[in-house]
Amino acid sequence: MLANFIDGKWREPEGCRSLPIFNPASGEVIGQTPLCSAAEVSVAAAAAARAYPGWAATAVMERTRLMFNYKAVLEGHFEELAAIITRNHGKTLDEARGEVRRGIEMVDFACGAPTLLQGRTLRGVSGGVDQDYYRYPLGVVAGIVPFNFPVMIPLWMFPLAVVSGNTFVLKPSERTALGAMRLAELFAEAGFPDGVLNLVHGATDTVNALLAAPEIRAISFVGSEPVARHVYQEGARHTKRVQAAGGAKNHVFVLPDADWDVAIPAIINSAFGNAGERCLAGSVAVAVGDSATQLTQRLEEAAVRLKLGPGDEPGVDLGPLVADDHRRRVLGHIERAANDGARVVVDGRSREYLERPGFFLGPTILDRVTPAMAAGRDEIFGPVLSLARVADVQQAIELVNRIPLGNMAAVFTGSGRAARQFRDQVECGMIGINVGVAQPLAFYPFSGWKSSFYGDLHLQGSDGIEFYTRKKIVVSRW
Ligand code: NAD
Repeated sequence: MLANFIDGKWREPEGCRSLPIFNPASGEVIGQTPLCSAAEVSVAAAAAARAYPGWAATAVMERTRLMFNYKAVLEGHFEELAAIITRNHGKTLDEARGEVRRGIEMVDFACGAPTLLQGRTLRGVSGGVDQDYYRYPLGVVAGIVPFNFPVMIPLWMFPLAVVSGNTFVLKPSERTALGAMRLAELFAEAGFPDGVLNLVHGATDTVNALLAAPEIRAISFVGSEPVARHVYQEGARHTKRVQAAGGAKNHVFVLPDADWDVAIPAIINSAFGNAGERCLAGSVAVAVGDSATQLTQRLEEAAVRLKLGPGDEPGVDLGPLVADDHRRRVLGHIERAANDGARVVVDGRSREYLERPGFFLGPTILDRVTPAMAAGRDEIFGPVLSLARVADVQQAIELVNRIPLGNMAAVFTGSGRAARQFRDQVECGMIGINVGVAQPLAFYPFSGWKSSFYGDLHLQGSDGIEFYTRKKIVVSRW
């Protein structure tokens, strides 16, 4: 049974049900995640609340020094963290290395605290009167994360939160908790005081206990759309500050004037990288104008060349899905799309893939998908690329804007004018122009729109600092 990390010590939760976690490449059970109760959440929240006054009063330069230590410790364990991700999530080692790098970049960003946490002053607003604002931490913050980036997404949250003076309770995904546990252990090794970062395992009930815990002042959430909405609404009902990033249905458009040698590998990577378990996955590739024949043919040729296998095997492009129940969900989507009239032009359901140990599913391409079909609207979150067609850029924009989710959309074109029109009129928070995965780096907010995000201040970048701090205005007359 996995232990919780509370007040600097590992602690076996008592009397909890548990869920198995797997090595998805073999199907072997590698641990049991406890589904912790409200009582265990209270212990973690109380530890964070006790640590808060001392940590908030710790000098910014000391908090920053510890963050630099953490950066060094993480770099020293880079390969180990990547291997843990591959073993517990299934993605390839190269993808896991990319994840660790993006996560450490958040720590790099947090090391800028002496600049990021500065306030502002306006001297002489009226006779003898000056106004200043100072940034203060919020108190205890909780972070709730999804299964697909088990190291990067916790690092989107707690480094910025704690360097701002908050203490933290992290709840990893019940499917992929091993990476977050190692992050917590390394955090203690870097020298942070006990209770600044705590970790508690669990699922729905644990999240609901975090939402209700009186010590917790703010919630950072990343996960699926319905849960993001629930967390936002329940968190607000308990008067907490909430940022809740949800699901996605990302469209990637290809105009006839695109550089096809750039577009095809980028779309393949966008759709099948991370086995499609990525909120920035290009899920629908759309031919604009007369590019359909070329797009279909070239994507088919590239998809069948992908090498599937365990993520730690050299040369593998596509690892397994995270768990068998998730694979069955994705298989259900393919079945339904075929029943709805889509053509399965590359079929990942061959026995070669499905009957090997682990939770493999081959790359799948569905052609002639329309927005009326579930495959054209719903997030599939697996190695499944749908193909669709529109007449022109205006229709492309309308197609994206009709979808309730608005995480990312991308366009491949040689026309600056078309790209600019797309950028300005598409209602998504992240836009790729000749880029298949428009991932913002640590110093930019991760910006979903519409039902892909609930809240005001996004994760990462300057929004992250705004989210984890509150301002105090001082008006003084001398
Ligand atoms: P999920 O919503 O099932 O779980 C996310 C977290 O919420 C987990 O910690 C889980 O324990 C908890 N949870 C699950 N059901 C709950 C419920 N009913 N009530 C309260 N808490 C609950 O998501 P997942 O399957 O782990 O991850 C995949 C989803 O995350 C996809 O939809 C993907 O698009 C999304 N995602 C979004 C982003 C983003 O930045 N927008 C990034 C990564 C993943």
